[in-house]
Amino acid sequence: MKLLLVEDERGLYEPLSHILKKNGYSVDVAVDGNIGAEMAGTAIYDLIILDRMLPHRNGISILQELRRNQVNTPVLFLTAKDTTQDRIDGLDAGADDYLTKPFSSDELLARLRALSRRKEKPIAAQVITAGGLVFDPLRGEVRRGRNVFQLTAKESLLLELLLTNVGQVLTKQRIFEKIWGYYSEAEVANVDLYICYLRKKLGNRCIRTIRGVGYSFIDSENRCKHVS
Ligand code: CA
Repeated sequence: MKLLLVEDERGLYEPLSHILKKNGYSVDVAVDGNIGAEMAGTAIYDLIILDRMLPHRNGISILQELRRNQVNTPVLFLTAKDTTQDRIDGLDAGADDYLTKPFSSDELLARLRALSRRKEKPIAAQVITAGGLVFDPLRGEVRRGRNVFQLTAKESLLLELLLTNVGQVLTKQRIFEKIWGYYSEAEVANVDLYICYLRKKLGNRCIRTIRGVGYSFIDSENRCKHVS
């Protein structure tokens, strides 16, 4: 589970990210509002912990922008003041839950578990159909007619991204950030490699190369030729 922690106090983000990592989260930290907004806007995270008071830009404005841009990542809002108005502002701006500082790490972990359960529910039920493929992201399994193909975790994430953006051009950079992560040390060229794996495995030509830009999944019966 990829988590973004937007928090400027070192005394808080250092121990917190340590605890979160120990509990199995992959954690990126943003220490000011502008960086936090940019990273959160990539929509590559499963959960965001967002502080209200940040340098350059406050948490409320970041949250409003995310929701305006249809980034629906669950957000746990951190507020220093325990006033009702603070909590209302956070929830109104689109937060899914809030915690008032100081808080216990056990409570934080429990709330994150609750948020991720809420997030996982609709996804678990979802099977995606496009271009003659029936894809079960949870199992990493693709069916085309009577054939069943098993995908690796990364191939599965890549196909899910393509199938949930049918007809749209996805830049290599966006694919890379979404699947490998913002701070990954892997190279963007991995995207081409994994597209190649997918094409080989699925044996169809629905994944179009947009030269110099990225890839697009085309869902049109006559344009998706199957390779025999
Ligand atoms: Ca702060």
